[in-house]
Amino acid sequence: MRLGKIYGIEIIVNSSWLFIFALVVWALASGFVPFRTSGLSPAARGTLAVVTALLFFGSVLAHELAHSLLARSRGVPVSSITLFIFGGVSHLEAEPSNAPGEAWIAFVGPLTSLILAGVFFAAGRGAGPQHPVGAGLEYLATANLMLGVFNLLPASPLDGGRVLHALLWRWTGDRLRATRVAGLIGRIFAWVIIGIGISTTLATGLAGGLWLMFVGWYLLQAGAAETMGAEVTHVLGGLHASDLMLPPAAIIQADATVEGAYEEVVRFGGRALPVMLGERLLGLLSMRDLERLGETPRDRAYATSIMTKLEALERAAPNDDAVAVVRRLAQGGYHQVPVVDSADRLLGLVTRESVLRRIAAAR
Ligand SMILES: [Zn+2]
Repeated sequence: MRLGKIYGIEIIVNSSWLFIFALVVWALASGFVPFRTSGLSPAARGTLAVVTALLFFGSVLAHELAHSLLARSRGVPVSSITLFIFGGVSHLEAEPSNAPGEAWIAFVGPLTSLILAGVFFAAGRGAGPQHPVGAGLEYLATANLMLGVFNLLPASPLDGGRVLHALLWRWTGDRLRATRVAGLIGRIFAWVIIGIGISTTLATGLAGGLWLMFVGWYLLQAGAAETMGAEVTHVLGGLHASDLMLPPAAIIQADATVEGAYEEVVRFGGRALPVMLGERLLGLLSMRDLERLGETPRDRAYATSIMTKLEALERAAPNDDAVAVVRRLAQGGYHQVPVVDSADRLLGLVTRESVLRRIAAAR
């Protein structure tokens, strides 16, 4: 769901967000003790709860905007910010090119949360903690303090993990080694959090510790994905699409009937095969394309009439950056990206297998 743009950055909220928003408003209006005992009318309490919840989500947005705006001022393009349940993600379109840049972009988010905590705390003190508005402001101060402190934990993808990575990068001068060491420290931290969760569960019952175990588990998963991504980027850095491609397992001639073409597709394990006119790639034929056949008998229709045509295919030029091609392959959920030159001649196919083979060969 798109909320709009701030400074040209698209703000997207996850659909779970509306539900959580309603839950927070409800919890504040009916469960938050200072509101309940304030003697306010239900309507006034409800209004106070909505305003408090809006300020809380505004705080999360401010945290992400701080990351995004600093990233952009340092030359890293930012497309959008997605807000989830209790946090957000800024989508940077590239990685910061130097360690100080990475450190500051990561640190400015928690810093914003901690500054907001201070501002809300001071304002709450001004209103007086007995006053319901003062209590609401102190609640916001606590929420921002937790947001700031939690994000400073040194486990990637949390901001603290990125700050740690930047410091290690600066210190060792080796980005990949920094990623590995930061990943290891992040895993240790995640296991410590899981350990605390387990002991809390043993001491006080499931509810308290389950949340911590979940957080630890999430950090393990996300951290592993980050380390993996960095390793792949390192191995493929400086390579091109032509270094990743393999020749097709088989080809289908343009004058083949659907019947003949499908014998080939089935013979090669159901994978998509290139349909060729001489050296020129016309399209790809996969099992899915068979749906386009309709009522026509298979021996009367040509492969070219049901294939996915070249114009509709995700394809790459031989000099395209290898990391970018793999990213397209993964994000688009494609099984293969054909590599063609400017005259549409097929040079090879980049497939998941060919990428894995290239990575394995580099180790
Ligand atoms: Zn952050």
